[in-house]
Amino acid sequence: MNENILEKLPNKVKKEVIRLNSIAKEKGYFSYFIGGLVRDWVLKKPIKDIDMVIQGDALEIAKIYGEKYNISVQYFPRFQTAKIPLDDRIFNNIDLISTRKEIYEFPGALPKIIEGNLKDDLYRRDFSINTLCYSLNSFKIIDLFQGEKDIKNKLIRVLYSKSFMDDPTRILRAIRFKNRFEFKYEAYTKEYMIEAINKKAFATISSDRIKKELILCLQEEKVKEILMDFIEFNIIETLFFIKDISENQFIWLEKVCKIIKNKNKVLVILLIVFFNANQESIEKFCDFYQINKDYKKLLISNKEVFLKIKNELKKNNLTPFEIYRLFSSLKEEQIIFLNIYLQEKFFIKKFLEYYVNELRDVHISITGKDLISLGIPPGPIYDIIFKRVLKNKINLGWKTKEKEIEYIKKHIKEWRE
Ligand code: ATP
Ligand code: MG
Repeated sequence: MNENILEKLPNKVKKEVIRLNSIAKEKGYFSYFIGGLVRDWVLKKPIKDIDMVIQGDALEIAKIYGEKYNISVQYFPRFQTAKIPLDDRIFNNIDLISTRKEIYEFPGALPKIIEGNLKDDLYRRDFSINTLCYSLNSFKIIDLFQGEKDIKNKLIRVLYSKSFMDDPTRILRAIRFKNRFEFKYEAYTKEYMIEAINKKAFATISSDRIKKELILCLQEEKVKEILMDFIEFNIIETLFFIKDISENQFIWLEKVCKIIKNKNKVLVILLIVFFNANQESIEKFCDFYQINKDYKKLLISNKEVFLKIKNELKKNNLTPFEIYRLFSSLKEEQIIFLNIYLQEKFFIKKFLEYYVNELRDVHISITGKDLISLGIPPGPIYDIIFKRVLKNKINLGWKTKEKEIEYIKKHIKEWRE
């Protein structure tokens, strides 16, 4: 690949990278792009975040940069990293990472030392495809772990056999990247994964760390395939406290992914995954990952709510307001799932469409001020009036505020008392 990776970045971002690179150079440090950015560039995928390694002290470079250009930089001394904010829609910041400083013991062997130093650092990474570096000096890829070859052969490969034991979140990361890129697990890597799972590796790390990687999995476009892999690797119970996911649920999952293309689908996915689960499993899941009470309630009650709606909708002669009432307490994510769930049951589904298209956004126009000027003393009665007005507005299809006022005037006697 001959073109320059910098040309893939917006001008504004490129400018900041060049500034950082020249500060590093003045200090005698080499800098590199690293990780996902280089991988995605080789894969010809859109580049998302920018990780830059400074072979030297990244904090020092960040500090000089911040002072020179009057930009407020975030420092994380514990991790020897810094965040450079960017004024860009896609790229929010540049993450600067330090490697250990070079020791110039053998001047003649300088390039070897640089490589060796970088290699130590890269060895701590998860997969060969994430170890690619791009030198901002030579504008060439540095590939110390055959990452390019693995990309070409579409393989997820760990760098050493105990990798998954050292960090079991890598199991989730392997599944995530394999499905995202439609790669395969390199044969040994798959064996190491199974071995780590059999040795109960997940039990050795905090729920927080699992949660973070699990959310990333559930945000992926290929979430259905990822969940299928969880089943294949026998970790669905470890991760979700459920035994299985049914054929039907997988069909729903697939449909959700067709509807929601971005990352905002975690809750819908969970509603589907737990649709057939018992309360105990859902409670275990929510407690383990410290999921808040409201979501816990939602996950537990969801199936019952759906069944109730389905039954109610079978009744004849529902008024528009009754339809409104049935759906109005649902969260957006439930509506998305319900729409899929009811898909085969056309006569029921049309009610949901009616609600979403005609009723959901109906709001009353009158306010407390109007009631005051009509001479109704403020109090709990206001809430009752608002509800009555909404009900009539929905049932009778009122379009104007005048209709609401007219209605209030007609009943004003009962409300003034
Ligand atoms: P994405 O496109 O999902 O952001 P990414 O490769 O940038 O992919 P991140 O989770 O942002 O992944 O992590 C950035 C880099 O940090 C990765 O490329 C990887 O090399 C390294 N990394 C992250 N988590 C781990 C881990 N658990 N073990 C080893 N290396 C990791
Ligand atoms: Mg990333």
